[in-house]
Amino acid sequence: MHDAAISRAREIASRVLMPSAGQNDKAARFSTEAVESLGEAGLLGLMLPLEVGGTGLGPRTFAGVIAMLAEADASVAMVYLMHVLATAAIASARASAAASVTPILREISAGRHLSTLAFSEAGSRSHFWAPVSRAQRNGNGVHISAKKSWVTSAGHVQSYVVSALSPEGNGPTDSTLYLLPAGTRGVSVAGPWDGLGLRANASAPITLDDCEVPSHFQLTDDGAGFTAMLNVVLPLFNLGTAAVALGLCRAALSATTSHLKTAKFEHLGQSLGESLPTLRAQLATMQIETDGLAARIDDLIEHLEKPRETTMLRVLGTKAAAGDLAISVTSTAMRVCGGAAFSKHLSIERLFRDAHAGAVMAPTGDVLREFIGKSLLGMSLF
Ligand SMILES: Cc1cc2nc3c(=O)[nH]c(=O)nc-3n(C[C@H](O)[C@H](O)[C@H](O)COP(=O)(O)OP(=O)(O)OC[C@H]3O[C@@H](n4cnc5c(N)ncnc54)[C@H](O)[C@@H]3O)c2cc1C
Repeated sequence: MHDAAISRAREIASRVLMPSAGQNDKAARFSTEAVESLGEAGLLGLMLPLEVGGTGLGPRTFAGVIAMLAEADASVAMVYLMHVLATAAIASARASAAASVTPILREISAGRHLSTLAFSEAGSRSHFWAPVSRAQRNGNGVHISAKKSWVTSAGHVQSYVVSALSPEGNGPTDSTLYLLPAGTRGVSVAGPWDGLGLRANASAPITLDDCEVPSHFQLTDDGAGFTAMLNVVLPLFNLGTAAVALGLCRAALSATTSHLKTAKFEHLGQSLGESLPTLRAQLATMQIETDGLAARIDDLIEHLEKPRETTMLRVLGTKAAAGDLAISVTSTAMRVCGGAAFSKHLSIERLFRDAHAGAVMAPTGDVLREFIGKSLLGMSLF
């Protein structure tokens, strides 16, 4: 099952993603073909249980698929990542929502339903664990108004998993998660997406204007959203963003290697790579950093497969390291490939721009370091 999923991802990456990644980046165009292909290949239900038609695979396959997609087009990999996180949140819905979410999980497994997370808010910025919007009681359900500041795949999904403070919550982390079908009255995409990187993933803001959510679409108990964010979403998000970083590093390494082999100093009768030891040394550093990241990811996967005391430290540290490594490896690639990269004749400048998203996406690299430092000193994190 694992190998089959990886080989389907590889086939989609080379047939669908690679040929259009450059154009989609330029035009900031969301690839609906990529989502269709992932759905047809059965990859949208990758981690969902067999009973709802999913393939029941674990973090190892998830990371492998993401890295494979990211090597071809990190925007699509991020769309897929946010979808898998949303499906994990939906699949762990409380018992009273199970009957309502099961048909949605079946649609996801059948490849007909894309979802995403709408956590970050304009008011609390990268502190996604502290929404400023508050759900208001409405009979058995709630009404939600919120300004969600960045939502990957905004306007292209069938549902959003949204957070809001619980109606009677006391503290800033007393949140609840809800499932919001995209067609709900009051949901609108509030602006365009024109980012520096990951330009083809439609990470636009959305507005929720008095949206009605029935109680059967309340995914967690009141106030239990925070725990679901930390236990269900965070480990997979951090693993997935690290896998995106790995895909970017691998792509940068292979594009740089190929440039060093093919670009020539005609007056010397040598390729760049044959001619300049300094470029070979930098290429070697890129390889060492990429291998180091792959090893970190394997280590995190082992920790997630067999959780132990150090698991949360690995969850936090792997994303922090991956964000920096992706920037380092793609920056080196920019320098090694010189003018050819700078003038956008190679895909490397796209990889370089895409690589800068990882450290910014919450929990940001700074916040992760803050959490790790506090936890080593026995301080409370929130
Ligand atoms: C491409 C992309 C896609 C995204 N997709 C989604 C999505 O699908 N769903 C979603 O919910 N969100 C999404 N986000 C939002 C993302 O997770 C962050 O919330 C957002 O990028 C943070 O924005 P900000 O820079 O305004 O945060 P700010 O909080 O203003 O951060 C500014 C700076 O302050 C630092 N900082 C903040 N707090 C601390 C602290 N406590 N200690 C130390 N330093 C700190 C940060 O590291 C950063 O350098 C996406 C973001 C991007 C870039």
